[in-house]
Amino acid sequence: MIQVRVPSFQLVSMENVGEQVVCLIAYHLLFAMFVWSYWKTIFTLPMNPSKEFHLSYAEKELLEREPRGEAHQEVLRRAAKDLPIYTRTMSGAIRYCDRCQLIKPDRCHHCSVCDKCILKMDHHCPWVNNCVGFSNYKFFLLFLAYSLLYCLFIAATDLQYFIKFWTNGLPDTQAKFHIMFLFFAAAMFSVSLSSLFGYHCWLVSKNKSTLEAFRSPVFRHGTDKNGFSLGFSKNMRQVFGDEKKYWLLPVFSSLGDGCSFPTCLVNQDPEQPSTPAGMNSTSKTPENHQFPAKPLRESQSHLLTDSQSWTENSANPGKGKAGMSNPALTMENET
Ligand SMILES: [Zn+2]
Ligand SMILES: [Zn+2]
Repeated sequence: MIQVRVPSFQLVSMENVGEQVVCLIAYHLLFAMFVWSYWKTIFTLPMNPSKEFHLSYAEKELLEREPRGEAHQEVLRRAAKDLPIYTRTMSGAIRYCDRCQLIKPDRCHHCSVCDKCILKMDHHCPWVNNCVGFSNYKFFLLFLAYSLLYCLFIAATDLQYFIKFWTNGLPDTQAKFHIMFLFFAAAMFSVSLSSLFGYHCWLVSKNKSTLEAFRSPVFRHGTDKNGFSLGFSKNMRQVFGDEKKYWLLPVFSSLGDGCSFPTCLVNQDPEQPSTPAGMNSTSKTPENHQFPAKPLRESQSHLLTDSQSWTENSANPGKGKAGMSNPALTMENET
């Protein structure tokens, strides 16, 4: 309410009609885009793995008979034979969700709050009471961007009245306090939103999710913190899509199906049956083939030898790598 009343105060204080019109349009445009993207972030349902990743009845029965061990893995390996999955648990096992009884697609994680496996799960966000993942990550980014612009706009247009407040250039009315409160609220939200938005811009540029920033994905040949990075431009397009006209609108335009993702790690295997979306010329080694992985990048060997102080099977995920805190807590440990 204050935010609506004070801009109207500022508006009548403006002498120039042109300035009033520009401010009115900019304010309502930013407000509408902010509400639209916020709405889409909240009400877009997270996407779950498609039915190919679910085990058949017979496979579930087999798994029940072999709850652990090599036979258990063999059942999963056979079930995952034709699936486009390239990530593994730290121990090199197929990633399997006991609760949903499915083979986890790459970048998919089980959210303990939603109690579901979420495709390309980023984090569970209490501010939007929803999981942020493949289906709404673009909306979440736009929500951060528009709310930041909205707060900056309010702080900037409020600034001259805020200065007048301190120099006693304003009449002693209630609006005086509203202007002070509004400036501090807008400035504080601007600072916190800009740090969060900046962090997510960095994540997008590296093609990482928040969870992957805390725990690097593990591929067949080992851990690679930049395993899904395709270069800045392609990384941006993975989230925002190929058509520029949709980039700034909260309409879904991310590339892919959320179940498979292109990676920069290429294995030379011409018999590869399935290919991740967007990498038609790239071939991969399926699980049942025992070819050694041949990463393309030189940095790979360095990354492979990096010793990790954590494991996905760790009983206490917080005691390993520094900084593994809140976002990872909503992600269930893999077995
Ligand atoms: Zn699950
Ligand atoms: Zn969730």
